[in-house]
Formats: sequence, structure tokens, C-alpha cells
Amino acid sequence: MDDIRIGHGYDVHALGEGLPLIIGGVAIDHEKGFVAHSDGDVLAHALSDALLGALALGDIGLHFPDTSADWKGADSMELLGKVYAMVTSRGWTLGNADMTVLMQRPKLRPHIDRMRGNIARVLAVPVDRISIKATTEERLGFTGAEQGAAAHAVVLLMRG
Ligand code: MG
Repeated sequence: MDDIRIGHGYDVHALGEGLPLIIGGVAIDHEKGFVAHSDGDVLAHALSDALLGALALGDIGLHFPDTSADWKGADSMELLGKVYAMVTSRGWTLGNADMTVLMQRPKLRPHIDRMRGNIARVLAVPVDRISIKATTEERLGFTGAEQGAAAHAVVLLMRG
């Protein structure tokens, strides 16, 4: 098993009134946004963790600690680019990524293709390797109560 690797990532951020809502590098107009040290982009964070996980390189908290002033207000798509550079420098490339965002509101469907485009651009891969789905959790739990949003990501890496 030296040619392919699988990775998984999961992230959550709390939502607060009047803060920017940035998901997959897309600024979405909404009355709530992420309470976070960085920009709180849950999708970029879950994907970054999946990429690191595939190569057993730890997680983004290890590489970009939220106690560090360097990453305060950080653009998470830039962090994603740095993570992917770690992947490619080790001789791996993304086969595909499949992600799900869990959020009650707003509807994310109108923004999904821009998110896919942003991520494909940062990773320099064709957009058809990047899948993003969105779902609600039927008003259950913290996403249902609009207290936060979550994202899952699974990636396949290929050698070469
Ligand atoms: Mg995070």
C-alpha cells in the first residue's frame, strides 16, 4: 500500500452575530459568522486535516497553533495551500476530495461551485476532483440550533 492514501478531517466552529461567514474561501452574506482565531473556514480546515491525516502528519492545530499571533485572522485557504505544499513536497497529489458541510442556514447550494473552484485553484487540480455537499441536521443539535457549523472531508492521495 505505497501508492494511495486515504485521509479524513472534521472541523467545527461556533457562529456569532455580525461576524464574517467564509466557507471554502467564499464570503457568504448572512447575519452570523464564525467565532474563530483564524477566519474559521470549517471546510478549509476539515480538508487541511484530511490532507495531513492521509500522510500521518498530525493536524492543523499542530502546524498552525491557534495560540500563535501569526495565524490570527488567517486566510484558511492560504493555510490549505501551505498544507498541500507539504503533501506535494513529499511526492503525493490529490486523487479526489469529498466534503460535506453541516449547517442549518443559509442555504449553501448557490455557493458550492465557487467553493469548489476556489479549492481546485489552491490545490491546482481539476474541479471535477473536488466534491462539496451541504446538508442540514434537521434542526437537531448545535448545527440545527444555528450555534455552529461543521464540515467533514475525505481525501484520496496518489503517489506521483
Ligand atoms: Mg477550525
